[in-house]
Amino acid sequence: MFGSVFSGGIVKKAIEKGFINVKVHDLRDYTSGKHKQVDDRPYGGSPGMVLKPEPLFTAIERLKGENSDPVYLMSPQGNPFTSRMAEQMAEIPRMILICGRYEGVDERVIQHLVTDEVSIGDYVLTGGEPAAVVIIDAVSRFIPGVVGKMESVKRDSFFSGIFDYPQYTRPREYKGKKVPEILFSGNHNRIEKWRRKKMLEKTWKLRPELFNEIKLSPEENKILEEIALKESKNNESN
Ligand code: SAM
Repeated sequence: MFGSVFSGGIVKKAIEKGFINVKVHDLRDYTSGKHKQVDDRPYGGSPGMVLKPEPLFTAIERLKGENSDPVYLMSPQGNPFTSRMAEQMAEIPRMILICGRYEGVDERVIQHLVTDEVSIGDYVLTGGEPAAVVIIDAVSRFIPGVVGKMESVKRDSFFSGIFDYPQYTRPREYKGKKVPEILFSGNHNRIEKWRRKKMLEKTWKLRPELFNEIKLSPEENKILEEIALKESKNNESN
């Protein structure tokens, strides 16, 4: 499951260059019985299976040793994973991600081993592996050297709290659709202003609640007021 994801793209290069190191552990290697059983039926009677505590306790205690590495459980009930969280996780030298399966993990694992539960969205996956891949990918981007220019990471959506600006490349005109003239003006100041306006516009249209979390400059506040006014006029006329 992880092999194909980490054997290509930027994460593969980051592993090869030693910027990050990802080790995948099979829970079955931490079982004691002949059947290498990692799951069992839930107490109290309900459908499905639950990941047993023993293999998880053994695995995490062995992997941590004397270290105080944080342990994150992939869970739909967890804290929503955000860009800010990815940035903070990138500061942590080593961490353990637990991927649940079936109905999830025995609650004692959560109470006694897990530092935090992390969710990648309000939906339920069949297992925590895709969530771990998402986290590893997003966290890697904040490790210096992984993405060619840190400047481009800082320009991406969410870093400044709002969306990125629209990007265009060649050709200048495609099927009658033109690249905005301003991008050819050579006037970097005007281009920057245009881009900032587009960032504000799109965020306002699709995720206005993001503005609750950020502080805008007086100039940006003015632009946002104009955008909001234009939008409400458009809504009235529709
Ligand atoms: N019964 C659990 C519940 O309702 O909270 C869902 C278990 S889910 C079928 C199996 C595993 O997938 C979970 O233990 C977790 O590791 C992972 N998972 C599912 N949805 C996830 C999400 N949105 N974010 C992170 N991990 C998720």
